[in-house]
Amino acid sequence: AKTRGRGQFRVFEQVMDESVKNRQQIAADLHLAMLSKKNLAVYYQPLMDISGQKVVGLEALMRWNHPVHGAIAPSEFIPLAEEMGLITQIGEWVLREACRVSLAWPDLTIAVNVSPLQFRSAGFVERFKAIVRQEQTLATRIELEITEGVLIEDEKGAQEIMDQLREAGFHIALDDFGTGYSSLNYLRHFSVDKIKIDRSFTQSLGVTENSMAIIESVVKLGQAMGLTVTAEGVETQLQMAALAEAGCNQLQGYLFSEAVSKDQIAGLLTPGKAS
Ligand code: C2E
Ligand code: MG
Ligand code: MG
Ligand code: MG
Repeated sequence: AKTRGRGQFRVFEQVMDESVKNRQQIAADLHLAMLSKKNLAVYYQPLMDISGQKVVGLEALMRWNHPVHGAIAPSEFIPLAEEMGLITQIGEWVLREACRVSLAWPDLTIAVNVSPLQFRSAGFVERFKAIVRQEQTLATRIELEITEGVLIEDEKGAQEIMDQLREAGFHIALDDFGTGYSSLNYLRHFSVDKIKIDRSFTQSLGVTENSMAIIESVVKLGQAMGLTVTAEGVETQLQMAALAEAGCNQLQGYLFSEAVSKDQIAGLLTPGKAS
């Protein structure tokens, strides 16, 4: 039993070793992709008005097509970029791309995700303001999507950064609302423009009892605070109907379109041509 135990341990060690090596390799590849901008792209998913007929905004979402492993999900490589200290650089590149798209589509607000680490990095607000200035667009055209992760550790510091962003003109959306530990606390601390109800709520409509009641309450809360309420992850007509009935203002999800390349944005805006 002893020998077998040791053998198993060795196998386990090997597996660990390989996954660590693999991770290091992928991290190195991400660094390279970042430097060359090769295989790294910003895609855009439309935000619709409540009729589901009109595009009112676009959310910038990063895509990485690894030369060997193919498409790697942001949920995999964003944490890696954070660990490697690359998130600030990558995030600024996304903002720059988004600024250019904002100039091409003057009627649309462009949303950009900001990771908590990026949010807390020194000089973040100044650099974001500078990029908007360099790209000759307006901060009011850009919506920053932030999660409650930014509140961790330093509430007061986060509040200051948020105030500076809003003073600069950026719009702020609370992303993945309802999934964290302190969504309400978050609303108490920060003045924001929008709540994005997490897709897990949308997708539990008609599946889990009370999901409609929860969404209706968030809408009421949003209305009372003068905020726009957007529902994420809308995949079916039934979900869309329920969200409209609940009083949501905007919808986002595969029912309308997944994220598309910059060149495909025009197709989203031509009625009857949205994929
Ligand atoms: P998120 O900001 O909540 O973005 C929405 C995610 O839901 C996107 O996944 C989108 O493709 C997906 N989605 C949209 N509609 C539907 C739907 O109807 N059904 C389902 N099942 N999913 C839908 P994606 O692109 O894989 O991004 C995942 C997360 O990675 C994002 O969540 C965001 O937190 C992060 N992320 C993506 N791009 C960036 C970026 O440039 N910077 C930062 N900091 N984070 C990013
Ligand atoms: Mg988002
Ligand atoms: Mg979200
Ligand atoms: Mg989400």
